[in-house]
Amino acid sequence: MHTAAGAAEAALLQALGEQGQALALLHGDTLGALNAPMRALLPGTAGESVARWAAALPGLPAALAAAPGPRWRCGSSGEYQAQRTALGDGRMLLRLDDERAHLHQLQRQLDDREGLLFTSRSLTVSEMGSVLAHELNQPIGATANLLRGLKLRVARRHPDDSDELAALDKALQQVSYASQIIGRVREYTQSRQPHAGPLDLVALVHQSLGLLDWDLQREALQLSLQLPATPVPVLADAVMLQQVLINLLRNALDALRLDRPAAPCIDITLAVADGRAELCVADNGPGITPQTEARLFLPFASTKPNGMGLGLSICRSLIEMHQGRLWFTRRASAGCCFHFALPLAATAPSPATPTPA
Ligand code: ADP
Repeated sequence: MHTAAGAAEAALLQALGEQGQALALLHGDTLGALNAPMRALLPGTAGESVARWAAALPGLPAALAAAPGPRWRCGSSGEYQAQRTALGDGRMLLRLDDERAHLHQLQRQLDDREGLLFTSRSLTVSEMGSVLAHELNQPIGATANLLRGLKLRVARRHPDDSDELAALDKALQQVSYASQIIGRVREYTQSRQPHAGPLDLVALVHQSLGLLDWDLQREALQLSLQLPATPVPVLADAVMLQQVLINLLRNALDALRLDRPAAPCIDITLAVADGRAELCVADNGPGITPQTEARLFLPFASTKPNGMGLGLSICRSLIEMHQGRLWFTRRASAGCCFHFALPLAATAPSPATPTPA
């Protein structure tokens, strides 16, 4: 149909399909103009039989036989949607939408959004980190010195009081952990890189529980560990990962303390699959409401009386710095579960100890 009318139809379809939609005009049983996306999808020439042309796409003949208006699925796996609109002069406009293209576009938008959020989360961490590192360094150093002095005096005056000495050791251990975090934050704000080395996640779980043993005992809860019998190697910054694990455990402890169930428990599970290690910290506390969920990973979103709402936002940034992912799920029974997954390291880890004795 190389007429002026045919050229006008083709130009109109091209203009209508600017968003990449595949369009064709049907003159009864005869094919009219096709725009470029439609020709790429289903080649045909104006003037040929619509039935012969449509036979190339499974499901399209049935869609063309139905009344115009509703959308019809076609394609070998229903990946296209066909819709016909009667133009009132005996012609029909046929539109074919590729659902996969929509999905790809949606995925791209989500990826872009996630990328932007990641950048802003990293900025938040590093800006707040510099301020906190600066402000806390002095008092932490002074506390460590005071504790060391006190320990020396206690050791001199009450050399047999192992309880007091052990409590002072624990206090020193906590202060040293705090100063390690500050040191790492300062390093990170300068280098923008985690201090990654081979480490074993099983050992990291035990070390983190060691730092919280006092809180765990005080809450009298059941702790269940499901850890592999062999080391689980990852390439990561030991201090940062310990920070994540301790934050998740502290949140579980807070949830169980604020709304205590009859038999409070925390379950820690570490599993390996598809080249990744996945660690879950689950509790049977009150769980998370949809309102809290909407702001869960945003900085300064807290439901606790004295909460700062920074823990989860920082944890997510720390895990993402290690090419990992951190997310949460609801438990069918009660409470919730926070998961993080990290790529497994190829090399065997050295028995890394994030906390000095
Ligand atoms: P903060 O602990 O200072 O509130 P977080 O970012 O660690 O900051 O946590 C944000 C919020 O997420 C908490 O205030 C709480 O409402 C919710 N949350 C986190 N972990 C849990 C949990 N295990 N159970 C119930 N709610 C939780």
